[in-house]
Amino acid sequence: MSSVEQNTVEPLRPGRSLLVAIDGPSGSGKSSVSKEIARRLHVAYLDTGAMYRALTWYCLDQGLDLEDAVAVEAAAKELPLDISTSADAEFVRVGGIGVAEAIREPRISDAVSAVATTLGARTELIRRQRELITAHHNRMVVEGRDITTVVAPQADVRMLLTASEEARLRRRGLQLGGQQGAEELARQVTGRDAKDSTVVNFTLAADGVVTLDSSDLDFEQTVTAALSIVSEVLDLD
Ligand code: C5P
Repeated sequence: MSSVEQNTVEPLRPGRSLLVAIDGPSGSGKSSVSKEIARRLHVAYLDTGAMYRALTWYCLDQGLDLEDAVAVEAAAKELPLDISTSADAEFVRVGGIGVAEAIREPRISDAVSAVATTLGARTELIRRQRELITAHHNRMVVEGRDITTVVAPQADVRMLLTASEEARLRRRGLQLGGQQGAEELARQVTGRDAKDSTVVNFTLAADGVVTLDSSDLDFEQTVTAALSIVSEVLDLD
């Protein structure tokens, strides 16, 4: 049996809540690890960063000034967003337009912090995130920056996925196909984290949140470690 099969738990706590909240900085491997955990636990998956990115795309598409908090908050409220809640179907639609790729472009990465630090917009996106969690009967892996602390502090399992700055820059560089210069990469990773951390703390684990440092772990090892945390916290062994 491969380690992949060994780590699949099926069906886990059928009918019961299985909400896994994962926070971490950019380049920590959060998205790919969270998706894989959702697959192996057979629960839904929500990428909250994609929601902030979609809102940023929408604001820019509407020609809004991102410094105009009132306009950005209004945009958040009217945002016609349709986002996948499955690790196996990756779509993000705004007003019916597929934006899954467009929201990963550097122009969005550079602008997203301005939107994410608009408190009224955060309130609205957090409301929508909670609604999606409820719609999935609390059986979901939700990843972001404030899931363990604000969106779902009641989650069954709460994890902070960290990695050294060096590891994060390396991973994000590989993810972007090695096209970025060192300066642009640093702006997108450490610069964005610095801006984001003015409104959310995702560098230190809050009480009851387990830290998983993936600096020296490869993908499979990180998934295995994260699943062990889930098992331990839920006392499944
Ligand atoms: O996870 P990702 O890097 O795609 O997130 C994009 C941006 O969305 C972050 O840089 C941050 O500004 C914002 N974000 C947030 N709160 C979350 C998730 C993402 O503020 N829960």
